Amino acid sequence: MKTPFSPGGLDPTVDRRTLFRLSGAGAMLMAAPALAAEPAPNAPKVKTGARIVIAGAGAAGLTAASRLAARLDGATITLIDRRKEHFYQPGFTLVAGGLKPHGYVVSTTAQYVPAGVTLVEEQVAEFDPDANAVVTDTGKRIAYDYLIVATGLHLDYASIDGMDTALIGKNGLGSIYAGPAAAEATWKEMTRFSERGGVGLFGRPATEMKCAGAPLKYTFITDDYLRRHGTRGKSELIYAAQNKTLFSVPIVSEKVRMLFRDRGVKVAYDHVMTAIDPGRKVATYATPNGPVEIGYDFVNVVPPMRAPAAVRNSPLRWQEGVWSGDGWMEVSKDSLRHVRYPNVFGVGDIAGVPKGKTAASVKWQVPVAVDHLVASIEGRVATSVYNGYTSCPLITQLGRAMLVEFDYDNNLTPSFPGVIAPLEELWVTWVMKTIALKPTYLAMLRGNA
Ligand SMILES: Cc1cc2nc3c(=O)[nH]c(=O)nc-3n(C[C@H](O)[C@H](O)[C@H](O)COP(=O)(O)OP(=O)(O)OC[C@H]3O[C@@H](n4cnc5c(N)ncnc54)[C@H](O)[C@@H]3O)c2cc1C
Repeated sequence: MKTPFSPGGLDPTVDRRTLFRLSGAGAMLMAAPALAAEPAPNAPKVKTGARIVIAGAGAAGLTAASRLAARLDGATITLIDRRKEHFYQPGFTLVAGGLKPHGYVVSTTAQYVPAGVTLVEEQVAEFDPDANAVVTDTGKRIAYDYLIVATGLHLDYASIDGMDTALIGKNGLGSIYAGPAAAEATWKEMTRFSERGGVGLFGRPATEMKCAGAPLKYTFITDDYLRRHGTRGKSELIYAAQNKTLFSVPIVSEKVRMLFRDRGVKVAYDHVMTAIDPGRKVATYATPNGPVEIGYDFVNVVPPMRAPAAVRNSPLRWQEGVWSGDGWMEVSKDSLRHVRYPNVFGVGDIAGVPKGKTAASVKWQVPVAVDHLVASIEGRVATSVYNGYTSCPLITQLGRAMLVEFDYDNNLTPSFPGVIAPLEELWVTWVMKTIALKPTYLAMLRGNA
């Protein structure tokens, strides 16, 4: 893919030594906090005849399969997922920013399935935890002793009136979440927009969402392209925030607010997109003062996100409280073990826990869930705890990013104190995001990071 600009002051040839150090940094970023859940290096495999089903073979499902295959001897491990392609989703922002080609984010699921694990290329249609079984969409009933649910989440585009994903890439309509092709189509629309200028609309849904930093990153990237094209002066960028903040961690929210102020990005607080008219190029928002229409030349639609129907309609969902409405799984935030079904775990985006929904949190969650599962097989009590760690290298302009790492309690949890200052716009964090994180992510899928 042709990229019109060499990102601000960045020498594209990063030497091998720097790369090596950064990939180590990426590995630490995603791996260090999980060490408490790691078995001793030469620990023998645990012999068992347990039947383990993993629903979903994305980031969390594949990571769980790899770790279980490495720790267990004799288990029957079945992964269920119809999707043949694997998407490196943290790269979608880079594709939509014209920084990586479509192929950068696409590989196959099969290549990460560890030896000894069976992949069933179907969907789970029904969870029946009272009978310890799942039923696939072809009617196959698969019984288990342990279940790991890793179905990710459902992008609910249909709940935005007038939204049609087939229109992404046409008439100023973008959406980087819908998949690699949509990210690429969004890049083309954003390029056209940045060449001409106009009104650009950004924002996020009022639901829980994966990578809450992504809509912010894309606002900053678009701002930078407008400046480089000399069209920023005749453009207006508006970020629609779902409440009165820009990020769930107050100090990060404040930092983003200051950066938006400095870059001239307007913020419309308490604005939640409810409808879009792609023909008229108008988006409608629910606000405390009633519906508000805003016309656009370019929009990045970020849909509401909920649990996939199979989980939402199952007994596994939260029965009450803030996560019940959208059907997130009722798991302990410390162990990822289901609160009512102790042989069931929920990891990745599906977990109804206060923070997470990033690949970085998958890296922290899965070793803890696997440790508790293996401990149950062995008849011991696991003590490993997931502390809510999540991270987001937040791109603030081409060539610069801030590393945002935090836990359940909104504590900043820097992995490189004294090396990478949190909330500083740094080149090294940009290189980490654009170069080092993907190899670390792929190592994670194989259970090696
Ligand atoms: C635009 C964007 C930017 C992002 N940026 C970052 C970032 O910078 N850093 C970061 O750490 N994270 C980022 N993320 C988030 C990260 O990609 C996700 O949090 C992570 O992929 C979650 O893993 P998961 O396994 O829970 O879900 P997924 O990886 O989405 O996998 C879920 C799998 O479950 C399958 N499935 C669904 N329903 C069923 C069913 N009923 N039966 C069987 N299988 C089913 C799906 O086919 C899919 O393969 C980003 C995501 C997006 C979209």
